[in-house]
Amino acid sequence: MGFATDCIHAGQEPEAVTGAVTVPIFQTSTYVQPRLGEHKGFEYARTQNPTRAALEGNLAVLERGRQAYCFASGMSAIDTVFRLLKSGDHVIAAENMYGGSYRLFSRVLEKFGLQFTYVDTSSTAAVAAAVRPATRVLFLETPTNPMMTLTDIPACVAIARAHGILVVVDNTFCSPYLQRPIELGADIVVHSTTKFLNGHSDSVGGAVITATDELGEQIQFLQNAVGAILSPFDSWLVLRGTKTLALRMQCHNANGMAMATYLTNHPKVKKVYYPGLPDHPQHALAKKQMNGFGSMISFELGSKENAALFLNRVRLCSLAESLGGVETLISHPETMTHASVPIETRKRLGITPGLVRISVGIEDVEDLIADLENAFDAI
Ligand SMILES: *Cc1c(COP(=O)(O)O)cnc(C)c1O
Repeated sequence: MGFATDCIHAGQEPEAVTGAVTVPIFQTSTYVQPRLGEHKGFEYARTQNPTRAALEGNLAVLERGRQAYCFASGMSAIDTVFRLLKSGDHVIAAENMYGGSYRLFSRVLEKFGLQFTYVDTSSTAAVAAAVRPATRVLFLETPTNPMMTLTDIPACVAIARAHGILVVVDNTFCSPYLQRPIELGADIVVHSTTKFLNGHSDSVGGAVITATDELGEQIQFLQNAVGAILSPFDSWLVLRGTKTLALRMQCHNANGMAMATYLTNHPKVKKVYYPGLPDHPQHALAKKQMNGFGSMISFELGSKENAALFLNRVRLCSLAESLGGVETLISHPETMTHASVPIETRKRLGITPGLVRISVGIEDVEDLIADLENAFDAI
């Protein structure tokens, strides 16, 4: 089936008792067993829930994986993946990744004896140089937030395969509409469903999708053992979100490109970071690895003062953290999403006081541009 068809139908049959076309919210903690030793595949709701199972079936198909498991947040999904490892194991991670992942690795998981090396994964040579005998996982995020730097997934997979290392990709920024890491050779995909998958800024959740049944069974064991499951109501919300994923992403792509072009031509913008622009240093890789360029754009206004004048003037765009919703969100990485990143790292990555990040929504792009045009007048 095509991707848009899978968005709407994969994992979802009409409900058996009533024929309801929408998977109901099975708000129950347990299931009656007809006889001792017999059950209908559902025993206790941490272990199995039909609403969550439908979403998991849907996401497994959208990411072209074998199995999927849903969690209470993106962070709990990532945390569960790292419970595949044991003390002494080594991980290579991207130096510019989601701040919450860095916090989990450096302040929580290191205490349990996992070792992390942070490298610029856009350099395949840097990834290869970081491999040790104890390396078990290569953890990637592409494009990065907020600098929009890409990592070549197949090239990293080739290095990892040669050393028996699992490749885990955080695909939150792209959604499976734009990028499917398992098709590119990755072993595991993780998501914050909070962002594009749900798409409506009304739920926090996470997912792990595995390329093999063997890995899927290990994640299923951990999901039940650790227990950070997605609730039936949130599962239902995300399932409703993914129905329109293809349609939303087409609009995100179109609005992202229109906005990036507008910003590039604006005299008050010093630089625009967007992989869809021909002058992005990895535009060719983006065309090869992604199906469209999305709607995440960063741009440089030259100073914190300019950024503040601009951000305090937007009206239609909301000044807020998070991304991937139907509404346009605009933020200041230095003081908001990336405040916890050490200042030297921020400087090296290019997260300057004048940098602004926009997650372009699916409003009429002319209205968004008019809002920004008005905000630029403040500078
Ligand atoms: C938001 C986000 C997360 C964390 O997800 P939560 O749902 O907030 O726990 C992880 N990775 C990326 C890339 C994110 O944007």
